[in-house]
Amino acid sequence: MSIVCFPFKEEDVSVVVRNVECAASHPRVAAVLCVGYSQGETWHAIENAKPRIEKATGKDVILLLQKRIGVALRGGKGDGMNTALSYFLEHSDYPRLHFYDADIVSFSEKWISKAESQADLDYDVVRHYFPRSSTDAMITWLVTKLGFAILWPNTVLPSIEQPLGGEFLVTRKAAEVLFADQRVCSQSDWGIDTLYTFVIAQNGLRMAEVYIPEGKVHSLYGGLRDLRTMLVECFSAIQSLKNEVVSGEDFGHCIEFPKAVPELLKQKVGYDIEKSLKLLRSHWTPRQQELLHQHFDSALVKGLMNACDWPCWGFADEEAWAGAYLKFLDNFEKGDTDWEELLFKVWVARVLNHTLRHVIRGYDVALGSLRDLVWDTRQRFGMKL
Ligand code: GDP
Repeated sequence: MSIVCFPFKEEDVSVVVRNVECAASHPRVAAVLCVGYSQGETWHAIENAKPRIEKATGKDVILLLQKRIGVALRGGKGDGMNTALSYFLEHSDYPRLHFYDADIVSFSEKWISKAESQADLDYDVVRHYFPRSSTDAMITWLVTKLGFAILWPNTVLPSIEQPLGGEFLVTRKAAEVLFADQRVCSQSDWGIDTLYTFVIAQNGLRMAEVYIPEGKVHSLYGGLRDLRTMLVECFSAIQSLKNEVVSGEDFGHCIEFPKAVPELLKQKVGYDIEKSLKLLRSHWTPRQQELLHQHFDSALVKGLMNACDWPCWGFADEEAWAGAYLKFLDNFEKGDTDWEELLFKVWVARVLNHTLRHVIRGYDVALGSLRDLVWDTRQRFGMKL
């Protein structure tokens, strides 16, 4: 019997409580562990619903406040997930631990069943993946998958469908590997998903990916600025690993075939384009311009400078982004506001370029361009090894 963890901050309480109840009702689940960032409204809603859910399902609902496990970085989702890992390792009665974001409106018992059936085939890790809108997952594609393709082109890493997904199952063996790793325990921020994925691959754990055709419906961000902290922390997590070695050996990675993408999802635009165009004009400092001139190609410098006056994005194509990515890998300094803002601006320009060059030509073209970017990068950097 497994334990299911929902890390949570402040979310729509009715969605969270419904998900806790859904997980507790599953026949393969013995307990639900809710790890909160703080004792706010969501915490109290779960606390109030706990006696009723426990009585109705006969399962334990455990509420924990996240511990400060990493000390150097911002205390965020990483501390939440690592608190759950540590609880799981201290309680040997559950062989498997599932993680799900607490805010998923489309969560159902099927998600748990799919992961359990796949883990029965002796996988150490089972990840869920979903159809996504063509403007969604811009950190996943442009930062994580691209970074994996540049740094470890001949390994499993770039072919992992959604390396930042917060929905997956780990066995006790995988949890032990993760929690024994100092890099995982220190990654208390948004970089945690990168670290879990990376350490699982580096240790050659057996991994399967199951497909959830209805997709992940969850609370959405407004403009791209909402993703700034996540962008910086996810990029910095990759940068911290850049000198690591990963074996190219195949440890049995298996991916369920996807199904046709729902029409509504294909039509969805994930962010506010007009608002994002303005981001390229704001928060400039003389030092950002200095860093730009000092480290980056002249075409990118010219493009970004033009974008200060008038909305433009043509300069931020795939090649320009890959070139800039290498410079950021070498020089980016987390915590330095000017470096962070530069990374953000170049990424915004790339997202706009993707949207206005590919997305307008339809869903399949847009997704194809993202897949090609990863594939072509693997070839280019794989050849150099
Ligand atoms: P996104 O799905 O990547 O956009 O990220 P979300 O903002 O939806 O967060 C994913 C899940 O992690 C949600 O259940 C959040 O409530 C939860 N979460 C976010 N930050 C924290 C945190 O600092 N601590 C804990 N315990 N949970 C968090």
